[in-house]
Amino acid sequence: MTAPRLEIDLSKIRHNARFLTERLRKKGIEVTAVTKAVGGLPVIASALLRAGVRRLADARIENIETMRRSGVHAPIALIRSPMPSQADRVVAASDTSFNTEFATIGALSAAAVRAGRPHGVVLMVELGDLRDGIMPGELESAARETLHFPNITLKGVAANLCCFNSIAPDARKMAELSNLASEMEAALGLEFEIVSGGNSANLEWALSGAVAGRINDLRIGEAILLGVNPLQGQPVPGLHTDAITLVGEVIEAKFKPSRPWGHLARSEPSGPCPDAVFVSERRVVLALGRQDTDIDGLEAPPGLRMLGASSDHMVVGDAQGLLSVGSEVAFGLNYSALMRAVRSPSSLNVVTREQPPARLSGSTQRSAPTFE
Ligand SMILES: *Cc1c(COP(=O)(O)O)cnc(C)c1O
Repeated sequence: MTAPRLEIDLSKIRHNARFLTERLRKKGIEVTAVTKAVGGLPVIASALLRAGVRRLADARIENIETMRRSGVHAPIALIRSPMPSQADRVVAASDTSFNTEFATIGALSAAAVRAGRPHGVVLMVELGDLRDGIMPGELESAARETLHFPNITLKGVAANLCCFNSIAPDARKMAELSNLASEMEAALGLEFEIVSGGNSANLEWALSGAVAGRINDLRIGEAILLGVNPLQGQPVPGLHTDAITLVGEVIEAKFKPSRPWGHLARSEPSGPCPDAVFVSERRVVLALGRQDTDIDGLEAPPGLRMLGASSDHMVVGDAQGLLSVGSEVAFGLNYSALMRAVRSPSSLNVVTREQPPARLSGSTQRSAPTFE
């Protein structure tokens, strides 16, 4: 099989999605599954829907169009504010978009009128992370204006934290959003369909004894795909963290000195290496480099030590002699490595399976409690 490639265990993705959907539904919170880290890959979208997710979301219209082209009919929201220049595409492919600007909602309304269809708008409110969002004091007037646009339905409000300034989506922030939603509903005399509290970073709050209040939706990507809570980068108990791996192939395996030798072209902060400590060490080179992924976001399997990478090569210490030329290594990935690998032309080779591969695997945190 060709490498590098992403290997995706669909049964583990389904387990993660089902686990979170069931837990959160007990609290009155629906999971909107976010597909942006896998580029809207249709097989993943189908797995998520099979697992009981009712809504999908993505940050990029082209990913949503990919899912639509492959026959995904479920509601899909665009969770990054649309570019006004893409209003027609947004209205054609997504049911709902998250918005913060009148001008954009106006463009969506015009596009929706042209297309003869409705378009849902969720207003994103700024709660302190200072990325995108309407300031709370301006939310009511924004909501009133939204109600006047033809073919636009005001579906609700949403917040997004822990994405730009690491502001935690804690009980206080969630109470603030919940209260804002209730106030808006009272002021406008309507009931919001969606009050979306945030992303995977909200899980600590949501899975604790938290009171959900008016919050009835979370947009979850990372925790479903990688089993990780981005708040601390820790595994979420009960979720698989090895559903997705990046597989690379060994193109050289040799014993070499443990230190480089010669004149250092660029002096390192620690100074030049002394020649004296040449210890022969087994090293392998993989055909996988910085062009393929975020190398710093990879996790090598036990027994292997990542020594560094250049654009097309990765060097790994293999003290136990586990690998030879042609061997494959499956690395665990973080979110950044996953997104980069999905976007890289060489990793577009995606292999899905239903069984875990029998191979060295880089995700050390393994949790396989309740398979379906
Ligand atoms: C990416 C994104 C999410 C999902 O975040 P995860 O950390 O992957 O759960 C939710 N909301 C918005 C607006 C996003 O851009």
